[in-house]
Amino acid sequence: MHNRVDKFKETARAEMKNELSQAFLLMLSLGAPIMRQIGMSSFPDPAAAEAYGRAIRTESIERLPELLEEFKKNAQAKGAKVIWARDSAEAKASVLDIAKKRGINYITKGKSMVTEEIGLNEHLISNGVDVFETDLGEVITQMLSRAPFHIVGPALNVPPEEISAVFLKRGVIKQPTVNPVELGKAVREYMREKFRYLDMGIVGVNMAVAETGTIINVENEGNIRMNKSSPRTLVAIMSIEKVVPTMADALHMVRILSRNCTGQKLTGYVSMDTGPKKSDEMDGPEELFIIIVDNGRSEIYRDIKVREILKCIRCGACLNACPIYAKIGGYPYGFSYSGPMGQILNPMLLGIEHTSDLFRACTLCGACKKICPAGIDHPSIILEYRARQIKDRKHQTLSARFENNLATCSSLAMSSSMLWNLAVKTVRPLFNSLAEDGYIRDMPFGAKGWFSCRNLRAMPDKTFHEIWKKLNLPNPDDVRKKETL
Ligand code: SF4
Repeated sequence: MHNRVDKFKETARAEMKNELSQAFLLMLSLGAPIMRQIGMSSFPDPAAAEAYGRAIRTESIERLPELLEEFKKNAQAKGAKVIWARDSAEAKASVLDIAKKRGINYITKGKSMVTEEIGLNEHLISNGVDVFETDLGEVITQMLSRAPFHIVGPALNVPPEEISAVFLKRGVIKQPTVNPVELGKAVREYMREKFRYLDMGIVGVNMAVAETGTIINVENEGNIRMNKSSPRTLVAIMSIEKVVPTMADALHMVRILSRNCTGQKLTGYVSMDTGPKKSDEMDGPEELFIIIVDNGRSEIYRDIKVREILKCIRCGACLNACPIYAKIGGYPYGFSYSGPMGQILNPMLLGIEHTSDLFRACTLCGACKKICPAGIDHPSIILEYRARQIKDRKHQTLSARFENNLATCSSLAMSSSMLWNLAVKTVRPLFNSLAEDGYIRDMPFGAKGWFSCRNLRAMPDKTFHEIWKKLNLPNPDDVRKKETL
């Protein structure tokens, strides 16, 4: 996927002026947490269910290397071909190689965030293999050439009029309609034709079970099941953190994921594949490839301060809870992952020096941490990135350098009363020369952002110490000493 994180501020500004996005975001931030709450309360003991889910994610990540080996061994024993891909280039080359060796000219694809991360569609298309997304939201975003708005519902915000127009242009419908049922039916029939002659399908993986070598997908449309059962060749692409120890763990995480994604107790379809089709089975692919993508995750695993990012199950609950996401939506994040989970994952995938707008656009309110079913402490990770950015002089932005210098000077001044009084005396006339009616409303040297939503009171003519001195009152320390005696 084309990365546009450098456009964060301008896209955010545009989205805040977009009335349609604002109305939709308001609805999402009010409705989604309620649906999640209803879903979670359907557990007999919601707190225990959540704690169990968090424990599974913690164990899965702490035991990641051995679980991956176990998964590979068991998946291979059931006939799957497992391929390790160190980075996006290796993953894309493997998929293209599989397609080319089989003379495949088009593939269909289920919703998969890791394939967006590595830019698989663009790579296949530019090498002569056409790609058809099959999840309704992904079909719409692909046809509109637009980034996902939300990690769970990529086209949640697109109005029926726009969908109708693009479907008409792409031949999905013959007559314009804004009826959602007719639009849904039309895209279903359009997709059926692709599935009918399909030789190769690609899916992501929601969970990979180490003890059985099974891959699990959850969905609501049935398109992933079609992708898995229609073609001769199936390629499942997963990032390394998708592995869980046991089937019981996986089933619990499916329950947690469904409730946190959409508020459902269980999604409409849950499909499990352990190896390709067996000789006595009717459906399923004749060959199953599982590509396990690292793409920077081993680095995250090694980095103990941010390792917990890998616990994420891509439920999207943190996006719906985040006050920043609720104002700007998914487009400004400029990459496959948006909202708080994007703010913690993208810096490790794209580099801290390229993503500072992302981790600085956070109030540290902790709503994401509170709601996260995987138990991730987003604010601590965001603070860690800020600290690393300040420490790393090579990659410091101008504002980070200013902040660093300001903090160093303040700390120096605060360490001695003499220096502090001197600093106050020096700074006061400079500050106050900018004041109007007792308030400073703007300042030169890059402080515009700070003043765009608040004013600063002018500094008083006298400090508290100066007033106190003038009152000529007894020193409180002397009074206290006297009382003790
Ligand atoms: S960080 Fe937590 S809440 Fe956000 S998508 Fe991942 S698991 Fe869900």
